[in-house]
Order: sequence, then C-alpha cells, then structure tokens
Amino acid sequence: MPTDYYGVLGVAPGASDAEIKRAYRRLARDLHPDVNPEPGAKERFQEVTRAYEALTDPEKRRIVDLGGDPMSNGGGPGPAGGAFVGFQDIMDAFFGGATARGPRSRTRAGRDALIPVELEMDETVFGTTKEITVDTAILCTACSGAGTAPGTHPATCATCSGRGEVQSVQRGLLGQVVTSRSCPTCGGTGQVIPDPCPQCGGDGRVRSRRTIPVKIPAGVEDGMRIRLTGHGEVGPGGGPAGDLYVEVHERPHAVFTRDGEDLHCRVTLPMTAAALGTTLTLKTLDGETDLDIRAGTQSGSVITLRAQGAPRLRATGRGNLLVHVEVQTPTRLDPEQEKLLRELASLRGEDQPESHREAQGGLFSRVRDVFNNGR
Ligand SMILES: [Zn+2]
Ligand SMILES: [Zn+2]
Repeated sequence: MPTDYYGVLGVAPGASDAEIKRAYRRLARDLHPDVNPEPGAKERFQEVTRAYEALTDPEKRRIVDLGGDPMSNGGGPGPAGGAFVGFQDIMDAFFGGATARGPRSRTRAGRDALIPVELEMDETVFGTTKEITVDTAILCTACSGAGTAPGTHPATCATCSGRGEVQSVQRGLLGQVVTSRSCPTCGGTGQVIPDPCPQCGGDGRVRSRRTIPVKIPAGVEDGMRIRLTGHGEVGPGGGPAGDLYVEVHERPHAVFTRDGEDLHCRVTLPMTAAALGTTLTLKTLDGETDLDIRAGTQSGSVITLRAQGAPRLRATGRGNLLVHVEVQTPTRLDPEQEKLLRELASLRGEDQPESHREAQGGLFSRVRDVFNNGR
C-alpha cells in the first residue's frame, strides 16, 4: 500500500511548495535525532524526510498524485536508505547556511547577469521596449536541476565519505600539522553523481539563448541599470536564479547633448540676424518648434525652451532644452559689403579707437598697463 506522504507531513493533497516546506521545517526541528533523543523520533524523522523528498520533486510528486510510490525502490527506511541529512544541513537549506563546517549544498544561488543595450537618445528620453538577447544558464528540464540521469540518485563521495572536506597531516619542525580543505572529488558537496543527466552533464542547468522584451522607462540615462528580478543565471544544482541587469548605453546624438533631464544644443546665427532678430525652425526630439531670436541677441546667450527636455525619472514633468546661440562674424567681405559695414560703424560712432576702449569697459587700457609693467 503506498504511503500517504501528504498525511505524514500533515498537509492537504493540493498543498503548495511553500506549505510543504513549512510543514517539513517544523517537523524536522522537532524530530531530528540531533535535537530529539526520544525513541522513535529518528524513524519519524526519516519518514517525514522521505515524504518531503517525494513531494518536492515534481516528477515524484506526480507519481504520488497518480496513486503510486516513487520512494518504494529507493531502499527501505533506516540508516542504509540513502544519505542521512544532518540537522544543520536542513536548517542551512532553509535559513541560508551560516556554518562553514561539513559538506556544502550542491545547490547554490545563481549569479547576476549584466547586458549592455545601445539606445538612441529618443529611446532614452521617451522610453521604449527592446527585445534583448540573453545568453544565460537556465534550469535543466530533463532533471529539474538534480543533475542525475532519470531513475538514478547521487551517491556519497568515496574520497571524503560525504564530509565534503579532506584532511592531510604533515610532519614538520613544529610537530604535526593537520590541514583540511574542500574535497577535490565532490567539490565539497559530499556527494557525487554516478550517472549524470545527459542533457546538462550533472550541472542541473543548461545554457540557453533567449530573447526577452525589456521595458525601458522614459528618462533613463547613460550608465543606468534596469533590474529584471530572477532573469539572471540559474545556480549550480538548479539553485535560484540571479537577477539580470540591463545597462543603458546612450548613443551620441548629432544635435543634442544630455545633462540629466536637460538637453543642450547649439545654433549659429549670422551677425545680422542676431542684431535684427529672427524666427528659426528648430527640430527638437518632439518635432519642429519655432525659436524666437530677439533683436540684439549676443553670442553665448542661452534660450531656454521649458519642458522640452527629458522626462524626470523619479518625478513628474520634464527638463528643459537649452539652446546656446553662437553669432558668426563674417570673414569674407566683398568691397560693397565692407563699404556698408564701414558706413554702419561710422553711423554708430564705432570707427574710433576710443570707442572700442569704452565698449570694452577700459579693458584695452588695462591690458596695456600689464604689458608696460612687465617690461
Ligand atoms: Zn539535467
Ligand atoms: Zn568528496
């Protein structure tokens, strides 16, 4: 008659993995021979451990639910029936191991993965969804992370007898020195896999290239990282996956540069347009906009277009677009143009050296003083 594994753990047949885990943790704390010397506790503990193993392995649980017994050919109860899991190992498995002694778990958490993504400025400013190709380790579907070939089990490591570490004794001038190190045969896990899963070779995970859509929020900046929880590498032995970080690399834009939420660009104007004023059509990231240049605009002045910058990532609203104006002085004048400019200069009284001095607030005379003192 098959064992009622749900009954042994005191959970309902439809119990979730978390409920099974919780029930087993409670029972293991009460019954483990390391903490409970009462007669019968050890047998009870082995019974609940077998039930836990049967219900946490998806394949075994399926057999249980079909009315079978997946543990019936795995050896009877008692010390000979497979590896005896230490109390500390169970507690470590549930609470995250704090002790360094003894064999460590074959299952370890996966690493985070980092993938750079190149984005145009309109994508970082307005946000987008990018298909990103990720090449990371995923859980092996053939063994569900166990690393064993179907129908086989891990065996106790013969080199370290399951302790996970080996000791060597050296004799020196100071006497006998005993050093212990991680077992080279099993990598410190105390177990070996005699028949590795053919799909993953015993690692419990396989490399897989897949494409996932990543939402890029509006307003991200160069160098920022977007975290996708649980999309990183699956750990050895099918351990929980790390996170995937997508690092934003913003391509330089032909016109705009970015300073956080503000955008900057430069326009060059003929001297005459700066003096007389004009209206330009400026192509922004949003589209075309009119840019009013007031009469008498100076080179180096900045025109601010409010809320035409990048959206604020952690607040509402947008930054500004700052247009830096550069006034161009004509370099080649034909005789006619030169004549006109000289007339203009004369009309404005700008053709005398004294007027230059006044216009510069006395700078020229000060410069001359510096030169004279230097001699
Ligand atoms: Zn596998
Ligand atoms: Zn070993």
